[in-house]
Amino acid sequence: MIKLENIHKYFGELHVLHGVNLEVAEGEKVVIIGPSGSGKSTLIRCINLLEKPEEGSVVVDEVNLLTTPAAVAKVRQSMGMVFQQFNLYPHMTVLENLILAPIKLKGISKDEAIASGLLYLDRVGLQDKANAYPAQLSGGQQQRVAIARALNMKPKIMLFDEPTSALDPEMIQEVLDVMIALAGEGITMVVVTHEMGFARKVADRVIFMADGEIIEQNTPEEFFTNPKHNRTRQFLSRIA
Ligand code: ATP
Ligand code: MG
Repeated sequence: MIKLENIHKYFGELHVLHGVNLEVAEGEKVVIIGPSGSGKSTLIRCINLLEKPEEGSVVVDEVNLLTTPAAVAKVRQSMGMVFQQFNLYPHMTVLENLILAPIKLKGISKDEAIASGLLYLDRVGLQDKANAYPAQLSGGQQQRVAIARALNMKPKIMLFDEPTSALDPEMIQEVLDVMIALAGEGITMVVVTHEMGFARKVADRVIFMADGEIIEQNTPEEFFTNPKHNRTRQFLSRIA
């Protein structure tokens, strides 16, 4: 479904991704971990071309996005992305946040967007907040709205970049619970996170990145109990 091949990314002189290969199958849950600055965000942003690699190919559903720029907008619509910062529109209600993109980008009718928006709000436990403004919500609630907003585009893939890192500890689990439930429904997920419990529970595959490379990847069982590389062992011992 997603195939990144030999991805090189530079920011000016800085060589941030050094020939990364990443394949994600339909329905697969991939968790990416690694030290700060190792290129995790850059890599996940290459999947929907929020960052454009200088070298390599990004193929989604058989289409090479780097050589077929006309396909990028459509593919982006099929990928929901949730960031560390929730990025809700502050001047819009929760429901308005949810219906904007489906109406504008996909041409869905307002009634339909509202109906499905309310369903997703219910799924993240926030239907009673439909008419609230983001500033009236806690961080965990805002992040759950951000997830519902992404889902209201009916994406095939969900990309998460440290969705719980900006949250107070007591709000982390409510967001992880929403993600765990989502994973159970079979959607394809790529998640950058420091939440190892989530990785153990949800990941089909854990990828460890350091210095712009994938150092090691494995099933969570193997990865956590039997890490093969020194870098991985060092990293795991530091976060444990
Ligand atoms: P963290 O865990 O802190 O989020 P990360 O693994 O996500 O780190 P990236 O954000 O991908 O790392 O950054 C990789 C490297 O690229 C870092 O050295 C960072 O400073 C640099 N970098 C990232 N974005 C930019 C940018 N827009 N311009 C210049 N340098 C950048
Ligand atoms: Mg990052």
